[in-house]
Amino acid sequence: AQGESTMLKLSNVSKHFGGVKAVDGIDIDVARGTVHALIGPNGSGKTTTLNVLNGILRPTAGSILLDGRDISHASPHARAAQGLGRTFQNIRLFPAMSALENVMVGAQRENNPIPGGDAALRERALAALAFVGLADRAQVVVKSLPYGHQRMVEIARALAGHPKLLLLDEPAAGLNSTEKGELVQLLKRLRGHGLTIFLIEHDMALIEQVSDRISVLNFGRKIADGAPQEVLRHPEVVKAYLGE
Ligand code: ADP
Repeated sequence: AQGESTMLKLSNVSKHFGGVKAVDGIDIDVARGTVHALIGPNGSGKTTTLNVLNGILRPTAGSILLDGRDISHASPHARAAQGLGRTFQNIRLFPAMSALENVMVGAQRENNPIPGGDAALRERALAALAFVGLADRAQVVVKSLPYGHQRMVEIARALAGHPKLLLLDEPAAGLNSTEKGELVQLLKRLRGHGLTIFLIEHDMALIEQVSDRISVLNFGRKIADGAPQEVLRHPEVVKAYLGE
């Protein structure tokens, strides 16, 4: 029986490219209000899993439930409308637009316009920028912000859509240690507000600091799943990383 506490449920999900079993029958349950990380050596299937989740790829088999609704074959746009927020590994913002304008784009939902028009949209975007600590940078053109702040703007843009689940693709990539510290604090604050977060990340120190649960892939299969302390000591996980 599936409790109401599951925000995202992958059941027996596979993605094959011809003969390549990039993802091969994985089950992952992301509990509501938790931070859940997906890790694994290079080529283990993390990116493919993320792309099956965000709708860029369709699964060869299996199902994906977001808050109990089957999104396995929904378009990326439909998934966003159903509460899936995301950021990209390589930041994708409009560099010549202000931080506020970029976040307002994220607050818009074509099929589900927010009541109150532009003023409400602006309020929502400003609130998201304030949440990530960039209220005073709202009018600054994105390309003149430091990289770490651009990353925060991208997270704010996802938050402005009021997602049920936030998908982060290597959020710490390219950040310096100060910026990583700020990211850790932000993720903890988001979790404190009840948001559910699913992320792929290479930085193990960050993963250990923020994750409630970790799933580990190797050769497209899940080899471990659990709390960070137990998973990162799991012999098969240690072996998979040393064998890289
Ligand atoms: P990771 O993100 O963990 O490094 P990927 O999901 O990128 O792993 O890749 C998993 C496996 O699937 C690798 O063997 C990779 O070469 C293969 N793969 C990924 N995308 C494709 C594709 N479009 N066509 C063929 N093989 C692919």
